[in-house]
Amino acid sequence: MKDKVAIVCGSSSGMGRAIAQEFLMRGAKVTLCARDEKKLFDTMQALTYMAVNEAKDKSVTMRIIAVPGDVCKPNDLKRVVEETVDAFGTVHILVNNAGGPKAGYFEELSDEDWYNTVNLTLMSAVRMIRLVSPYMKKQKWGRIINITSMSVKQPIDNLILSNSIRLAVVGLAKTLAIQWAKYGITINNIAPGPIRTERIEELANAKAEKEGISYEEAIKAWIKEVPMGRLGKVEEVAKLAAFLASEDASFITGATIQIDGGAIRFVL
Ligand code: NAD
Repeated sequence: MKDKVAIVCGSSSGMGRAIAQEFLMRGAKVTLCARDEKKLFDTMQALTYMAVNEAKDKSVTMRIIAVPGDVCKPNDLKRVVEETVDAFGTVHILVNNAGGPKAGYFEELSDEDWYNTVNLTLMSAVRMIRLVSPYMKKQKWGRIINITSMSVKQPIDNLILSNSIRLAVVGLAKTLAIQWAKYGITINNIAPGPIRTERIEELANAKAEKEGISYEEAIKAWIKEVPMGRLGKVEEVAKLAAFLASEDASFITGATIQIDGGAIRFVL
């Protein structure tokens, strides 16, 4: 990944942060993006510190920028891409990622909840792809990776917004994968099962409240669904993302790859 330019959305925590870190360790130039400015710059500082002090790689200071932005806001996305191109000249790799859709059952959700999810989960990917694809087409090389969820393969009980709207992202990716293969652009989806991050803590709290159980019991209930008997690690997702972003994955496109410790129960 040396000298490849990557934008990682939602990279101040969780899987996004781990992916940004993995890309940096592999020599990429990385733009971090998330809403919370302080958390984002703290992340940039922490990743830089780690690379300089642990990996003894001083070049990282020239290979990382942070652009605060909300993926729901078209102008913020425009700024993220413009600042990346100003700093690094182009974009090779895009990771579409953000917070997850609100939890809840159909009966509890309003039109506003549905529209907000379309904006957060689908339109953020549509808009980012629209902004970066001209660079990828021109250089005849691109990698687009969407962080979705195992919900695109197996619906999750109280996550109807995720079960529904994330499938639109998969349809978008599959269509563009076919149409843009001729430009050397691959588009794939990562479908994580339960991975230990802030999001899983948020969902565990929602589950605990809904079912009148403790937070620990909510986490245990998930682990019970995972044949590996544990939650996934963000580093495991990051290594999959790095592979999909690499030259080695040039023939993989339009795929939705689960990383779930065996949690998804169907065969194909
Ligand atoms: P996380 O909450 O740890 O991290 C989300 C990141 O996105 C943070 O950096 C946050 O600041 C940023 N973010 C949130 N909303 C944003 C917005 N509107 N604009 C810009 N940045 C925004 O979450 P995570 O667990 O790493 O999950 C990432 C994605 O993967 C989510 O969509 C989540 O639903 C999905 N997912 C998570 C799991 C899991 O078990 N953790 C499983 C399946 C799918």
